[in-house]
Amino acid sequence: MNQPIDFRSDTITRPTKAMLEAMFSAEVGDDVFNEDPTVQKLEKKAAAIFGKEAGLFCPSGTMTNQIAIKLHTQPGDEVICDKLSHIYHYEGGGIAFNSAASVRLLDGVNGVFTRDQFIASINPDDIHHPISRLLVLENTCNKGGGTVWPDEMMKDVCDAASEAGIKRHLDGARVFNALTYTGSKPEQLGKNFDTISICLSKGLGAPVGSVLIGSSNDMKRAKRIRKLFGGAMRQSGYLAAAGIYALDNHVERLNHDHQNAQLLAQTLKETSWACDIIEPQTNILIFSLKDRSKGKDFLSILKNHGILAVSFGPYTFRLVTHLDISDQQIEQACKILKTIVI
Ligand SMILES: *Cc1c(COP(=O)(O)O)cnc(C)c1O
Repeated sequence: MNQPIDFRSDTITRPTKAMLEAMFSAEVGDDVFNEDPTVQKLEKKAAAIFGKEAGLFCPSGTMTNQIAIKLHTQPGDEVICDKLSHIYHYEGGGIAFNSAASVRLLDGVNGVFTRDQFIASINPDDIHHPISRLLVLENTCNKGGGTVWPDEMMKDVCDAASEAGIKRHLDGARVFNALTYTGSKPEQLGKNFDTISICLSKGLGAPVGSVLIGSSNDMKRAKRIRKLFGGAMRQSGYLAAAGIYALDNHVERLNHDHQNAQLLAQTLKETSWACDIIEPQTNILIFSLKDRSKGKDFLSILKNHGILAVSFGPYTFRLVTHLDISDQQIEQACKILKTIVI
């Protein structure tokens, strides 16, 4: 059989030849001594895109999120986020472990909640309650099926936070997918947040890395926390060069991944076995099986047909389109999905 068609995640991509060449020719130094020009270039570039002053290159998006949470909270404070949040589900309990903060989960729709829901979750100034200190949005929302926050709703929620003296962080692991969908300006989005975490290793196709961006003061403090978390790196310019290449060359093509996700969704709708398909706005497609009892076998059925996916619950699954999925593979995958009988 051919290579399996791998829809498990947009993190599985390998650097392209041109990206590798950019990495090989990077000018580097010891970044812990502030001597890596390529890391500095990436940090400035990422910050400038969103109208922020400074950036901090980190090994992962988990680390950029966790640094931001640490930066904005004190032990005992409360973080407000949606119930589907990556920071809550997929960061190993880091909010409790790293920041000793509590979490208030909001009951949004695919990761998107309203200003009123948010305001209702802010604790009164009363010694019984933890202090509501930080709001975290996720855009796009992974567990919500790559859902995009509408600009107005995002602004409404973030303005409410600002009025209440609550800090605002964006988990923007896939923020370029969101911007591709809305067509909005990144500087406009940037105004809503104190800090933003951007992943280079998702849809953008870099092998490693995320950047946290924000004010110079915040990034100075964040750098201290990065050191504390063990995330200060040395000649990381080789990795930063991949990030710079990705920002220059892999943002415009994201729309193609989105179109591919729609082709897959269309195909799933035509099958007899898929249900609760979350209409993909970006590159993530989440669906469930009508026959829930088949949930435990479904991944191996797919695998036997040459398609890889991940489960997002006992009978719910996720397919992600990305740079290493060719048009031919999409065509092939759609054909295969139509032949599967469950
Ligand atoms: C992938 C992801 C992250 C960061 O994950 P790492 O694997 O640590 O880079 C953060 N938030 C969301 C929504 C993600 O999808």
